[in-house]
Amino acid sequence: MRLYILRRHRLDHARTRGLACNNSAVPVPRSLPEPADSSLRRARRLLTEYPLVDGHNDLAWALRETGLDLAGADLATRGTRTQTDLARLRDGGVGAQFWSVYVPSTLPDAEAVRQTLEQIDLVSEMVCRFPDHLALAGTAEEVHSVFSSGRIASLLGAEGGHCIGGSLAILRVLYRLGVRYLTLTHNHSTTWADSATDEPVSGGLNAFGRSVVREMNRLGMLVDLSHVSPATMHAALDVSRAPVIMSHSSCRALVDHPRNVGDDVLRRLPRNGGVVMICLVPDFVSNECRTWTEGVRRSMRARGLDDRDLAALDAASAQHAVHDPKPRATVAQVADHIEHARDVAGIDHLGIGGDYDGCPDFPVGLEDVSGYPLIFAELLNRGWADSALARLAGGNVLRALHGAEQVAARFDSGVARDCSQ
Ligand SMILES: [Zn+2]
Repeated sequence: MRLYILRRHRLDHARTRGLACNNSAVPVPRSLPEPADSSLRRARRLLTEYPLVDGHNDLAWALRETGLDLAGADLATRGTRTQTDLARLRDGGVGAQFWSVYVPSTLPDAEAVRQTLEQIDLVSEMVCRFPDHLALAGTAEEVHSVFSSGRIASLLGAEGGHCIGGSLAILRVLYRLGVRYLTLTHNHSTTWADSATDEPVSGGLNAFGRSVVREMNRLGMLVDLSHVSPATMHAALDVSRAPVIMSHSSCRALVDHPRNVGDDVLRRLPRNGGVVMICLVPDFVSNECRTWTEGVRRSMRARGLDDRDLAALDAASAQHAVHDPKPRATVAQVADHIEHARDVAGIDHLGIGGDYDGCPDFPVGLEDVSGYPLIFAELLNRGWADSALARLAGGNVLRALHGAEQVAARFDSGVARDCSQ
């Protein structure tokens, strides 16, 4: 199998040209200091050569929630209202982004499908609006090609099985519209897959849930096991013939949060070929942060509020922080999760899924998408080799995507038609 450690062979000067042009009329709120630290310089250089493929970014939902349209958000300008814009993606060395087309799992099916289509449209419009910076990619090879052109490859990920409305036909439509992963659930269980943060209803996956996974294999869409229960992770790994991903999860052995992945699942990744994309959300990487938020959740439940409703949780957290400020997570804690996953699953099964614009706070130094090089600098300081960092950055997840494409091609040729065994 082709090793997806991709390297950019030339620096693209059009990138900086485009940004300068678009920024000309607007003052830049802050300029990044030149890194004094040689590891940080090395990390930044490394990310100009190897693509950082981030597994999850909720900018599309943040724009919808804040009432910003693409013109109002002016993503070419370094801003402060979101954690993501083109200038900060460049600073962060992001070479490819899975843009989440998330909609809440509290929505009824038909509304979830409608809003998911609207989110796909929003991301597609965003890519069209900034052709000097962004280009859609539907395959690992296309990611390589867009990265080589100096632009940020844009892939789509749908977050939660509720967005297919119980229909394999909708799943196929989403694939045709460019969606390259489906997270099997969000915070609520669907009728066919159990969420990590809800009551189980299917014992992992029921018969329809298994047929969803098989259909994703047939299409070449990655099965995303973030947000699902351990039983669902195992059930999907039992069924899937293609590599799976966890697009934004960290390690449960370090922080016992239900959104994190246990070692029993991590140990199955080498055989499957899958990738855990370590998430930067403080509650997933820091026990102090998890404990603080658990206190907020308890008080919500005591008041009869649904703590799985992210908007309600964010509001309650902001209120609680007024008298009890939330602890801050650190880059070192993120690196600890990456190293734990490496020790259990192996260097070929790691990636990064930030979850920017999906969470109000992030670790110190990682407050927005410009911070990724700090993680790579920390790992360089811990003795990581460039080749290992290239796998972490994007080599592994592109290999997984390519693996899913190869499985789909075998279905097309009839070799893998019977996937029930
Ligand atoms: Zn999520």
